[in-house]
Amino acid sequence: MNEDQLIALLKTRFNNSIGDDCFIIEQDDYDYLVTSDLMTESVHFGSWMDPYSLGWKIAAVNISDIAAMGGKPLFLFLDLALRRLDEHWINLFLSGFFDICSKFNLKLCGGDTTKSEVTTVAITAIGKVPHKKAILRSGADIGDSVYISGFTGLASYGLEMLQSGRSSEFAKFQLIPEPEVNLALKLQELGLATAMIDLSDGIYQDCLRLAKSSGYKITLQAENILKDHPLAGIVSDDKIITYALTGGEDYRLLFTSKENEEKMYAELKKINPNIRLIGKVTKGDGLTVLSGQTPITINSPGFTHFGS
Ligand SMILES: [Mg+2]
Repeated sequence: MNEDQLIALLKTRFNNSIGDDCFIIEQDDYDYLVTSDLMTESVHFGSWMDPYSLGWKIAAVNISDIAAMGGKPLFLFLDLALRRLDEHWINLFLSGFFDICSKFNLKLCGGDTTKSEVTTVAITAIGKVPHKKAILRSGADIGDSVYISGFTGLASYGLEMLQSGRSSEFAKFQLIPEPEVNLALKLQELGLATAMIDLSDGIYQDCLRLAKSSGYKITLQAENILKDHPLAGIVSDDKIITYALTGGEDYRLLFTSKENEEKMYAELKKINPNIRLIGKVTKGDGLTVLSGQTPITINSPGFTHFGS
């Protein structure tokens, strides 16, 4: 069983509407978006992760899920399972956590702590979106264009550098990812996105999830994903493709739109100059990545919890 199959099992046993980036609680003027994510030692981080970055990142990954639905993040609950109460560690962790909370104006509203043999940090985040305006994974339609809000593969390259003890300008993409809240809010406000997901597990897996949720096929053009890629000249072109398609944890937004490219770019490049058109939604199912006219074979589709 893999992670997607586990989620499918939960959906059939409990509630058909789980499985997007957040759960939606519908209210009158606004709907509330709720999500939770945890990071545990030796799975999500090792000794290469400093406590400041851990405090930042556990909030960032949850904020990104709210952004993925066009929502404004508001409230966080923080759960900590720690080996001991090391004041120095806790101060650094809270500095990272506080910095991202101040950046996005978030309130900490509660949580829990416990002693544990393995350090685990978890957050439940709540955001809001105008009633019925959440951007789902399932809204893509035939003919929609597929956009991405920046470069992918930088966080996984950064991870390799950190794990091998090498210093690198790319480490920051792994340690302190910047969730795309402003872009998400603009997409929601202008009604530009038909479907959206944040890239936690890599373009290949996450775009396939969006294609499956929408019930169509997506075809991506590798050249557009790789154009001006920051890893060019640092690793081989073949490796850049692998990083860019299967590397996780970049937390860029992948979204679909009916609007013409000029309108999209005019509105959105002010917020993020790296937004680019990378593909199309067509009839059929699944995901194809083309290099020129030739499909690229993906051997290892990206990070999977539980490994199979
Ligand atoms: Mg997500």
